[in-house]
Amino acid sequence: MNALRPQVITGDITTVKCDAIVNAANESLLGGGGVDGCIHRAAGPELLAECRTLGGCKAGEAKITRGYLLPAAYVIHTVGPVYHGKEQDAVLLRRCYESSLNLALEHELHSIAFPAISTGVYGYPIAKAVSVAVAAVLGWLKAHENYPLQVIFVCFDERTFELTEQELARSCPAEPVRE
Ligand code: ADP
Repeated sequence: MNALRPQVITGDITTVKCDAIVNAANESLLGGGGVDGCIHRAAGPELLAECRTLGGCKAGEAKITRGYLLPAAYVIHTVGPVYHGKEQDAVLLRRCYESSLNLALEHELHSIAFPAISTGVYGYPIAKAVSVAVAAVLGWLKAHENYPLQVIFVCFDERTFELTEQELARSCPAEPVRE
């Protein structure tokens, strides 16, 4: 596989220096709690001002703004599904990752950091969400093999980190480093 292997880190996504960080937003795009609140606080009020011009966002879709005071140049806002235990949950969650990656490609970005979308207030069970997230990202990278894009999974807690590492190791074993 030519594509870069995704990285997994723990920490606060607002401190990650990359081309775009992804926000697990709500449909209004006007800010909220969790990671959304952290991103708006760190980016400053100009982020909300730009978000007001976007007309909201539907679950599974994504919209892009500048990053303002963040170390990341852009924020890609996507809206995860509220978990209902139905098949459509995984379809929409997968679409969030794909829509975000498609926007990164359209804007010629080469690094993108994701939080664990929908696993906070929206109630998606973490193990299930991680498996959808990893499959979505690896599927997209495989379909865009010639486009160099570093994906970073930013995990807010140890359990998410371990599950993501395990899922990646299962689906995408590390290759020996080539000089
Ligand atoms: P959702 O509404 O999509 O469930 P939340 O913001 O409630 O979004 O939670 C999504 C995930 O983001 C949760 O796993 C939460 O622990 C994590 N999270 C919260 N704050 C941060 C942050 N600053 N950086 C990275 N992840 C975060």
